Amino acid sequence: MKAQQDQLHIYNSLKGEKEPFIPIKAGKVGMYVCGPTLYSEPHMGNMRTFINFDLIYRYLLHLGFEVKYVRNVTDAGHITNSAGQEVDSIGEAAKAEQLQSLEIVYKYALKFQELQRIYNLLSPSIEPTATQHIQEQIEIIEQILDNGYAYEVNGSVYFDTRRYMQDFHYGILSGRKVDELENETRVLNAQDEKRFFADFALWKRANPDDMQIWRSPWGNGNPGWHIECTAMSTKYLGKQFDIHGGGMDLKFPHHEDEIAQSCGSFGCNPARYWMHANMLNVNGQKMSKSFGNYFLPKQILEGSTGLFEKAYSANVVRFFMMQAHYRSNLDFTQEALNAAEKGYARLMEGLKTLNQIPTSSSSFDIDALIASFYKAMNDDFNAPILVANLFEAVKQINLINDGKASISIQDKMRLKATLEAFIYDVLGLTPENTVGETRLAPVMDLVLDLRQQARTNKDWTTSDQIRDGLAKAGIVVKDVKDGTTWS
Ligand code: AMP
Ligand code: ZN
Repeated sequence: MKAQQDQLHIYNSLKGEKEPFIPIKAGKVGMYVCGPTLYSEPHMGNMRTFINFDLIYRYLLHLGFEVKYVRNVTDAGHITNSAGQEVDSIGEAAKAEQLQSLEIVYKYALKFQELQRIYNLLSPSIEPTATQHIQEQIEIIEQILDNGYAYEVNGSVYFDTRRYMQDFHYGILSGRKVDELENETRVLNAQDEKRFFADFALWKRANPDDMQIWRSPWGNGNPGWHIECTAMSTKYLGKQFDIHGGGMDLKFPHHEDEIAQSCGSFGCNPARYWMHANMLNVNGQKMSKSFGNYFLPKQILEGSTGLFEKAYSANVVRFFMMQAHYRSNLDFTQEALNAAEKGYARLMEGLKTLNQIPTSSSSFDIDALIASFYKAMNDDFNAPILVANLFEAVKQINLINDGKASISIQDKMRLKATLEAFIYDVLGLTPENTVGETRLAPVMDLVLDLRQQARTNKDWTTSDQIRDGLAKAGIVVKDVKDGTTWS
């Protein structure tokens, strides 16, 4: 495995090119990924990014690295919206639902956990939250102030971008140039506390209607959004670690500002490799809550997106995502999902056939086949090429099954172990056990009968309870014209 570790190349957004991956400490990886803001249920686009980083985590583990994977939860702070305003989305959701902020966060954290289970995401090593790290955020802000890269105005603290630019390169990650930014940013007015349009909040003075408020050396307030990631990544991974990831849309300003905060406090870029996963689109447009073009991961399992004629299992969705490189855009379409459904079934069928094929001597180069799996993934986690090479293996298996090729017992065992490792451990797919489904069928008939009785009696609580309970077990119930189906 060590040799394979040495061949891994990662596209580093900081350099704009693929580089050999050399961890700070041999054999170990520190990886930080920006997690969800839990003010609503994560949509399928959010899940794509987390599934992509799950793939990356899984492959690093497969290569034998000892990985510390930190993925935060944003449960505080003001997020900059698309109009450049800083909004407390969690507070707004809390007011709308007449709950406390952390009740909102907890509610959606449970949903997110359920989705991770359904989509087979491995748990990170730790999921720290912003509210648990207010003190650490304050300490870093103090350090930035001491170093002269921030200023305080009326109980708020802003990052001093112009001062920073005298010593460091603001725009090093995103390539944004401050004079270009100025053209697309609104002009500061007299009420603005910022001295310069590109300055950003490290700490915001409390508004009377803020839902969450903390004490600080500058008075009551709450942290800016970017500072939480600087505080949590450095706390768990050190001032400089190996990989920092997130969705492409976080490159600017979030990640650019994280770099500025780390350089401004500790004098170094926090991560050696910056990785950005591309967006899930709907008809060419980024899936986003603000555009209203989103659907929820469970809607696709239930077949209720309104976009597709039928439901698709979590395995099929995951397999569909693995057929696009993490740096490519991906559009959800019915045709692509149908193709993924067939592809997933073919792959699983191939594994089953492999168990049954006879052995003699090998008529093909199994080393080359296995090497092609590693070659694909070592080339910046190229899952679509891996999938194509896995299909090549299925083709060989079918040829052997038809008596047109052969395999030795040793090679068969090796191929089985390697295929299972790549399909289950790396791609994170699971077998949808047809034997289990056959045995489950009478049980499901009974459960669906009970649900139908509840619906006839207008006992919606019981009927929803049955559907939700089945969904938790990964079984999707769908009401169709002639009755109810499950998958
Ligand atoms: P948020 O909860 O909005 O902070 O987003 C959580 C993660 O989902 C971030 O890494 C975003 O970059 C990512 N994300 C948001 N929208 C999409 C999308 N349409 N496709 C892929 N990733 C997304
Ligand atoms: Zn972040």
